Formats: sequence, C-alpha cells, structure tokens
Amino acid sequence: MIPKTKQQKHIIDLHGKLPAITEKQKQWAFNNCFDKKGFHSKGSVWCLHCGEVFKMDTSELMISVVGDKAICPKCGTLLKLENSRKTKYKESWYYSIITRIEDYQVCRHFVVEKTMSKYTQCLKEPYYWIQEAVQNWIDKKGKETIVARPCKCIPRVYDAWNFAKPMEIRLRGHSLYYHTHDKYDIDAKHIYPYRNIIPQLKRNGYTGHFHGISCSELFKLLLSDKEAEILAKNKQYDLLRYKWKRNYKEVCVPFSHSLRIANKNKYIIKDASMWIDYLHLLNHFNLDTHNAHYVCPKNLKAEHDRLLARKQRIEAKKELKKRIAEAQKWEAKYQETKGKFFGICFGNEDIVITVIQSVAEMAEEGQAMHHCVYSMEYYKKPNSLILSAKDKAGNRIETIEIDLKTFKVVQSRGVCNKNTEQHDEIVKLVQDNIKLIKQAA
Ligand SMILES: [Zn+2]
Repeated sequence: MIPKTKQQKHIIDLHGKLPAITEKQKQWAFNNCFDKKGFHSKGSVWCLHCGEVFKMDTSELMISVVGDKAICPKCGTLLKLENSRKTKYKESWYYSIITRIEDYQVCRHFVVEKTMSKYTQCLKEPYYWIQEAVQNWIDKKGKETIVARPCKCIPRVYDAWNFAKPMEIRLRGHSLYYHTHDKYDIDAKHIYPYRNIIPQLKRNGYTGHFHGISCSELFKLLLSDKEAEILAKNKQYDLLRYKWKRNYKEVCVPFSHSLRIANKNKYIIKDASMWIDYLHLLNHFNLDTHNAHYVCPKNLKAEHDRLLARKQRIEAKKELKKRIAEAQKWEAKYQETKGKFFGICFGNEDIVITVIQSVAEMAEEGQAMHHCVYSMEYYKKPNSLILSAKDKAGNRIETIEIDLKTFKVVQSRGVCNKNTEQHDEIVKLVQDNIKLIKQAA
C-alpha cells in the first residue's frame, strides 16, 4: 500500500537507504543455514555439501549404520546421512539480519535457498540464492510497521513471496484462515550473529537471546510492555514466554506480588505455568502468597504435586459425601418401588440369594465388590432389581441384576466385575426361582 502516515513515509524513505546484504552476510547464511548432510542409497552417498558421489566400503558402512554419519572423501565434511534415492535437492530457510537505522530496530528476513542435482552438470555444485522478503520496523516505543513483498496466492502456502514485486508497507490483516501462521512474524532458524541494536532495547533487558520468541515479537514486547521488561531484567524468561504466548498485552501475569518476591530473592521460575498453578493452589489452601517460604520452593514440582494431591483428596471426599446425600433422597423411593420384593430369599446349601433392601446396602455392596452397581445409580432404575448372592458364611459372591420387564438375568458379577466359579450355578438358581419375583411384581 502507499504510505499514508508521516511515520510510514519516513520508514519507506529509510527503507531505501538500507544497505544491500553484504557478501559476508550471504556467505554466513550459505555456510550455516543448511545441515551438512548426504543422501544415502545402496551403499552410495551423494554429498550435499560438495556434490561428490562416493561408495562407502563395508567398514564405513558399519559405522554409518550405527552413527548415521559418513565423511566425504572429497571435501572432508562429516555428513549426516539420510536414506534417499532423490537425484534433485532443494531446501530453503528463513535467515534474519538484525540492524538499526535512526531510532528504528529493523528485523530483515531473507529466504535463502540451496539447489543441487546429481546428474545436471551445472548443478553438481550447490547453487545458492538469497532474497529479502520481510522487514519488521520497530520504533523505540515498540510500534511495528511491516515492509514486505506481496504474496502469490498458492493454496496451503502462507508465505509464497513474489520476489518480482517491490517491498512495500503492508498491513497485518486478519487471515481468512485463523489457523494460518502470521506470515510477517518470522522466527528464523538462523540469525546473523553481528547485530546492531538500539539502546532502548539493551536498556530494557535484551541480552542477545530470544528465549524461543521470534526477534520482532521479543523486541515489540520489551519496548512496549513494562512487565515484560521487568521479567527480562530479572531473567524470568519462562514467564516472559508465558506472557507472550498468552497475549498478556494489557493484563499482567497473575500473582504479580508473588513475582516481586521471587525477583527479590533471585528465584528463577523455570516452569511458569506450573508455578502459577502452584500459586493458585496456595491461594486455595489460604497459604500466604506473600511469603517467600511458599513463593520460592526449592522443589517446585514436589510442592505443586503435594498440594494438588491434597486438593484432589478433599474433592474426592466431597464428591462421595454429595453422592451419599443424593442417594439418601432416593431411599424412600427405593422402598416404595422395590419393597414388594424384599422378602424374597432363595438358594441351596452353599448359596443364599436375597434382594438388596436399601440404597445404603447397595452402596455397601458396590464398595465391597468394587463394581459400579452403586455409582451407576442402579437404585434409580425402575426396571432393574438388584440381588446379592452370598455364601453360607455371609460373604458376598456375586451381584445380580434382573430386568423387571423380561424377568431375565441381565448381569451377574463378582468382585471387580469378574465372573466367579459359582457364576453358572447362581444364574441357574435365579432362573429357577424367577417365579417368586414374578409373583411379587
Ligand atoms: Zn563433499
């Protein structure tokens, strides 16, 4: 777009004054952006560093099987081997140069490409190509202006830069597809090590590392956000990442008072989300989040896990209480609907089968048998009658469910839902006595 504001006009003016990429900067990219590797197929290796094709003798083959590496006899490069029969190779990467002009921090992003062909004479040696695609101009207050090439419309490619067109001011518009990557936020694998940095960034905590954040994003964050600046200066880089990922632009990271204590004690938070969870747990148990003893634990994970387990235990107890109270409400209803079956009792010399006479008894049965007859609320089911089979000593053997519409045994299960040795005997006993239930129904 045509520059509209005064600042945009000024940036386009400065853009024209930026020097072209130097030979040294290019060479650095060619040497560093591409892994030293070779394509390996049937004992033969194509060196993607110099183009040499060489056979590996068996002893070397042994090494390559173990270490996946080989040394090219021509260029002497230690190559990482990839199994591939390809005869053409093309790879491209983003490469960034960080520079400044006047008060602007400028992130210049280039696309660097390497092409080789095993059998085409002119491409036997690597051919390198480099072009600039995007510049993030960041002023000393962290305001960003994009100068970039336009993109060609290629489905599923978000960054098909059209290098035939000039670089112009671009607006960071909303993408049609919310999941596509922001093409102007480039996190290059390689950044030229010699950087020209505006003093405001150095003052605000930039030390030359990016901590997993792209350069333009980090610069904007450090220049525009006081909290980010404090985090960086106190080396709380995981919290800085945490803040950046969650887009805490106007809101602060929670528990800023605890963070101040951590900073004062030079306590570095290595796992920000665990630390914040932990502070929520401290709060939950009314433990003092203003106290360094709690805020800066020696072993964060152990303390976090201990409190979490405590919370889960309490919640499980509460849940159980709630369920028992709920079940008690059903006791009267159970007596009313199933009471007519309560006298039923049958069996043989080894087994006694009775109808379960209350919700409380069903809870007991479920607990003793470790199955779900109680927790799945069988006492609420109008067409389900639950019986308990016990041995002569009164030990529970299986729990039986009968369908009151069909008068069939739906299931009969022992401890932990397993069948017992007496399973068939029990089912047969119930079927033989089903008339007792039919009569009572
Ligand atoms: Zn080589």
